[in-house]
Amino acid sequence: MKRLAILGSTGSIGTQTLEIVSKYPDRFEVEVLTANNNVDLLIEQAIRFQPDSVILVNESNYKKLQNALEAYPIKVFAGAAAVEQIVSSSTIDIVVTAMVGYSGLKPTIQAIKAGKSIALANKETLVVAGELISRLVQENGAKIIPVDSEHSAILQCLVGELNNPIEKITLTASGGPFRTLTAKELEVVSPEQALAHPNWNMGPKITIDSASMMNKGLEVIEAKWLFDLRPDQIEVIIHPQSIIHSFVHFSDGSVKAQLGLPDMRLPIVYALEYPDRITTDLPRFELKDYESLTFEQVDLKKFRNLALAFQAIEEGGIIPCAMNAANEIAVESFLAGRIRFLEMTNVIEEVLLGMENTLNPDLELLEDTDRRARESALRIIKKIN
Ligand code: MG
Repeated sequence: MKRLAILGSTGSIGTQTLEIVSKYPDRFEVEVLTANNNVDLLIEQAIRFQPDSVILVNESNYKKLQNALEAYPIKVFAGAAAVEQIVSSSTIDIVVTAMVGYSGLKPTIQAIKAGKSIALANKETLVVAGELISRLVQENGAKIIPVDSEHSAILQCLVGELNNPIEKITLTASGGPFRTLTAKELEVVSPEQALAHPNWNMGPKITIDSASMMNKGLEVIEAKWLFDLRPDQIEVIIHPQSIIHSFVHFSDGSVKAQLGLPDMRLPIVYALEYPDRITTDLPRFELKDYESLTFEQVDLKKFRNLALAFQAIEEGGIIPCAMNAANEIAVESFLAGRIRFLEMTNVIEEVLLGMENTLNPDLELLEDTDRRARESALRIIKKIN
């Protein structure tokens, strides 16, 4: 029986993780559920899964949560600090980090310090603090298992390859809803169009990131830290069917790939049971349903975010952290109708131009960088309007 803390239980990955838990009640037990804002769903999940504790990050609905769970033996907390504290609890085996953006960083650090296994769905953690996290993982004997489908694919390709060096990896990208649009057409796309991903069912932040290819940029950085690669060992290819989830190229010239339907429940179940596979009733991939699997080069002039991410990881230090913060503000502003689709990249670029780099940042410097980059992005967005 594995006892789970699910951080971000009301989001897309959180709800799909709970779906897996409910399918296999003899394998998983929910110990902790945390949510940012969605108090109604959190209450529903708490009553259904009967965790030891629940935490609502946004404290304004704490009373509502407390009243709703009064009759149950469930501990109720509020605030981000409570999330950071609870992850080190001795009754937790796996921490599923499924919250959105930068907010995942501090709880993940605490979970690593407590030596927990982490099913990492919050890629921003490694983008912001890859260097720091990798060191802490080593020092504390913690384990990070990626939930991101591409990184899960790479991990699956690496099983049994312990001493065999990776020559390079190829991350696949669906290309999102705007793959076939021209740069001119991209200027006027709406948030609604950007939110309509052709293959994957995901939360709004990552769906916008997918449309702008920033998601792939973040994944390049995530892959660098997870698999200890140089940026020049990571390439990206567009694969519109989202069936091949990534490739690993080995030093003998052999290439392995992992395939499956675009269904996040697959990498979730793999991360929870790694290195074992369990029998599931999830929908099967059938070759006969696909006439062809195709590949295209990424147009880096059209999707400049991906080029920015490669540049950020080359520079290292605080630059990826600043890029992530600027992107979070840019995505929020695009969703709120304050800036246009392509202006997101302009904002990020301008924020980075104003940042002086420092290598080997500690947590304090990263926090400071995140705050400064957000302020800078907001100032730039104000100027646009
Ligand atoms: Mg992914």
